[in-house]
Amino acid sequence: MLQPDRTVRSTCPYCGVGCQVDLLIKEDHIFRVEAPFDAAPNYGRLCAKGRFGMDFVTHPNRLTRPLIRKNLGDKPRQAVGIEGFREATWDEALDLAAEKLVDTVQKHGSDAVGSFCSAKATNEDNYIFQKFIRGVLGTNNVDHCARLCHAASVAGLQIAIGSSAMSNSIAEMKDLDVFIVTGSNTSETHPVISTFLRQAVVQGGAKLIVVDPRGIEMTEFATLWLRQKPGTDVAVFQAMAQVIVAEELYNHDFIAARTEGFDEFASSIMAWTPEWAESVSGVPANLIREAARTYASANSAAIYWGMGISQSVHGTDNTLSLTNLALLTGHIGRPGTGLNPLRGQNNVQGCSDSGGLPYVFPGYQPVDDPETRAKFEANWGVELNPEAGLTTMEMVDAAENGAIRAYYVMGENPMMSEPDLRHARHVMEQLDFILVQDIFLNETGKYADIILPATSFAEKDGTFTNSDRRVQQIHTALPAPGESQDDWAIICELARRVEEKLHRSHSAGFKFEHPAEIWDEMARLTPPFQGINYERLAREGGVHWPCPTPDHPGTPYLFEESFPRGKGQFSTIQFRPSEELPDDNYPFILSTGRVLYHWHGGTMTRRSQLDHIYPEATVEINPEDARQLGVQEHARVRVRSRRGQIEVKALVTERSPQGTIFIPFHFAEAAANELTHDARDPQAKIPDYKVCAVAVEPII
Ligand code: SF4
Repeated sequence: MLQPDRTVRSTCPYCGVGCQVDLLIKEDHIFRVEAPFDAAPNYGRLCAKGRFGMDFVTHPNRLTRPLIRKNLGDKPRQAVGIEGFREATWDEALDLAAEKLVDTVQKHGSDAVGSFCSAKATNEDNYIFQKFIRGVLGTNNVDHCARLCHAASVAGLQIAIGSSAMSNSIAEMKDLDVFIVTGSNTSETHPVISTFLRQAVVQGGAKLIVVDPRGIEMTEFATLWLRQKPGTDVAVFQAMAQVIVAEELYNHDFIAARTEGFDEFASSIMAWTPEWAESVSGVPANLIREAARTYASANSAAIYWGMGISQSVHGTDNTLSLTNLALLTGHIGRPGTGLNPLRGQNNVQGCSDSGGLPYVFPGYQPVDDPETRAKFEANWGVELNPEAGLTTMEMVDAAENGAIRAYYVMGENPMMSEPDLRHARHVMEQLDFILVQDIFLNETGKYADIILPATSFAEKDGTFTNSDRRVQQIHTALPAPGESQDDWAIICELARRVEEKLHRSHSAGFKFEHPAEIWDEMARLTPPFQGINYERLAREGGVHWPCPTPDHPGTPYLFEESFPRGKGQFSTIQFRPSEELPDDNYPFILSTGRVLYHWHGGTMTRRSQLDHIYPEATVEINPEDARQLGVQEHARVRVRSRRGQIEVKALVTERSPQGTIFIPFHFAEAAANELTHDARDPQAKIPDYKVCAVAVEPII
C-alpha cells in the first residue's frame, strides 16, 4: 500500500459539520483522506465530499499568478475567460488595486465600496478583511453568503432570544428523545450530522418528526412526516403551537421563569387550528396534533432546520414560529434541547463571528454602539464609521443605482449565488471596478478587473468555526501553488498600500507573521473568544465558544440559565402566502438546493472527481407531472420562469410532490438562479430560493 510522505490533521473545507480529517500526502498530492476515530465532531465519519472531494486543490486550473483584465475600463464590462486577462506581478496588481479603491473612496466616498468576505476562508482571513474595510476604507459595507442562507435564522433568533448560534453540540444528537428536522435534506447537506441523528432513531429509539415537502431520505427514519406545500411552514408550526396551548401541554414553570409575552401569544394563535393549517398546507390535522403532542411531551427535544426554512420571504417568521415552540415547551437550555440552524459553509459561523456582517464587529458587537466603537477605535487607532453598512442584496441595489461603484470579493461567487442572475449580471456590468481574490477563475472572477490568487485550506494555517460553534484548526499540508498567497497576507499588503495612498499617518495595524497573532488580536477584542488560543486548540482539538477565560471549558450547549436578551420573547405571527405562486403560464413551484456530491456554486466539487459521479444539472419531477408533460426519465427538459430559462435532465421521482420541481444550484451551465426571483424577507433581506413559479416543457 502507498505510504504517505506525511499526514496532516485538518478540517474539511466543505460543510458546517467541520469534520476532522487526516490528509495523507505523497509527492505534494492528497492521495487519501482519513477520519480520526478519536476526534470530535465526526469521530471517524466522513461523507463523500470529505473523503473524495479534496483533489480540487491540485487541479491544473488553480490561479497561480495575479491577473489584470486586458480591456481595463471597458463599459459595460463583459464576462471573459482566462484569455481576457494578462499575468502581472504582485506589486503591479496590488498597486493598481489600491489605486482603484482609493480613487473610488476619494471620488465617491467610503460607502461607494461594497465588499464580500468569505464563509470558506478562515476566521483570521475574515477578521483582517473586515478590519481593512472598516478601519482603512471607512465603510461597514461588508457581508457574506450567510445573508443568502441563514440570515432569517439569525434575524428570528436574535429577536426571540438574542443569539443566533446553534444551541447544541453535535455530540448531543445521539442522545435525543424527540427531534424535528425541517427544511433540511440533512443526509445530503450535512451528511455526518444525519448519521448521528439516524443513530438516535435506530439505536436510541428517538422519535423523528420531519416537516418537509420533499421525500428526502430522513423521512425513511421518521415517526411522523408532515408534507406541507412549499411556503406554508408557518401555518404548520402555528397550528402545532395552537395544539400545545389548547391542550395545556406547555411548560408552565419555564414560561413563568424564562419568557415574556405568553398571554398575548396564546390568545393570538387560538384561531390557527390544525384544521385551518390543513386547508393552507395540505398536512392532515391529525398529523399536526400528533406532532405537537409528541414534541411537547418529550423529556428532551430539539429542532434542526436548514435553508428550506430560512431561504424564504417568510424566513424570519418561520424561525420565530419554531422558537415559539421551544419557548412553549421549555425544550431549550438543557443538554439535547434547543434550536439549531444547521450552517451551510465550513466557516459561515466563523465568518459571522469574525465581523463579516455590516452591522457588527467581531463577536456581534454593534458598530452603532459608541462604547464598542470606542474600543475598536482605541485598538486600531483609527476613527470608525458609526453607520451600519449594507447587506449583500442591498449592495446589489446600491450598485444598480450607482451608489456603490466598486466591489471587493474574497472567496465568494455571487454570480452563481445571487437570485435572478440576469439582474445580477446587469449590475456587475455597470460597476467601475471589481477586485476578486480566489483560488479559481469562477463566474464572478470573469467580471473582475484584477484577480488575486489565494491559497486553499490545504496550503495555510488558521481556524474555522463549525456549525456548533467549535473553533478548530487547519494546517499547512501542501506548498502554495505558484505565487498564490494566504488571504490574510494579501489583504495586509493591500491595506498597507491603500493607507499609504490615503496618506494615513497611522496604520490600523496589518503587520502579522502568522495567523495565530491575528487570532490573538481578535480574541483580545471579543469577549466570547478570550479563552481560546492556538496552543489550546492544538492541545484540545477544538473549543466551543463562548469561552471567556483560559480555564473555561467552552460551552457545548447554550442558554442554561438565561438568554442573551434576558427572557425569551414569544412572537405573534400572521401566515402570509408566498410572493410568486403558480398560474396558467408558470404552473409549477421551483425549489432549489444541494445534492450530496456537490457544493454550492460548484467551484470546488466540479473540479474534483465527484463531478464524474454527478456531472450535470437535473430536475426532479413527480411521476404524475412527468406523465402529463410527456417527459421520460433522463429526457432533457426546458425550465422557464419570468426571469430566464435553463435546460436540464429530468429525474422522475416521488421525492418531489406533484406540482413542485427541484433543481440543484451547483451547475453554471444550467444555473438554477437564472430562474429564481429576488423577493426578500422584509426583516432579514434574504431572497426566496424555495418558491417561485416556473414552466416545464420537454425538448423535442
Ligand atoms: Fe466535510 Fe461536511 Fe462531509 Fe463532514 S459532513 S466530510 S464536514 S462535507
